[in-house]
Amino acid sequence: MTDARRGLILINTGPGKGKTTAALGTALRAVGNGMRVLVLQFLKGSWHYGELDAAQAFGQNFVLKQMGRGFVKVGGAETDPEDIRMVEEAWAEAREAIDSGEWDMVVLDEINYAIGYKMLDPAVVAEALRNKPEMVHVILTGRNAHPLLVELADTVTEMREVKHAYQKGILAQRGIEY
Ligand code: ATP
Ligand code: MG
Repeated sequence: MTDARRGLILINTGPGKGKTTAALGTALRAVGNGMRVLVLQFLKGSWHYGELDAAQAFGQNFVLKQMGRGFVKVGGAETDPEDIRMVEEAWAEAREAIDSGEWDMVVLDEINYAIGYKMLDPAVVAEALRNKPEMVHVILTGRNAHPLLVELADTVTEMREVKHAYQKGILAQRGIEY
């Protein structure tokens, strides 16, 4: 046991709801501690999420950016090069943000999907995380986290679906899903 302060790598994965919202809750906690948090949302872009406006209320200490356009077509050959370009751009910004010393916490929201869709190399992400500045916290979200990243992470949580309103035909609700 050690009480030394250090940056952690966290992963929120699994099929149940709560991966992104748990990351945002942690971000809120960090901002409340006077830390500066950057959230980069991979693949998202077509929906307007409440957290975009909520983060703005905190000014430059809580910055949230959508780095994609949502509804990505999956599967090797069919993947639109434009989506791949946007993921590469998101990753370049993520890497720079982690290494910049400007942020105490960087959330890579939905990055696990980008990796799962083979739009981003898990080895490249692992290498960046291994060499990150010691004090930076990094949170990765999305189903099916890559084993390489799970091994590297300090804290990994798997959301398990017990039930979801969607199964009863209830569509996304404001304040809950977006
Ligand atoms: P949230 O953003 O609500 O924390 P999440 O990050 O765990 O969800 P994602 O895989 O990013 O989940 O999916 C985003 C959307 O899909 C959200 O609107 C969420 O409510 C919905 N969703 C998540 N899990 C399920 C599920 N098991 N069944 C149906 N819809 C789901
Ligand atoms: Mg999510």
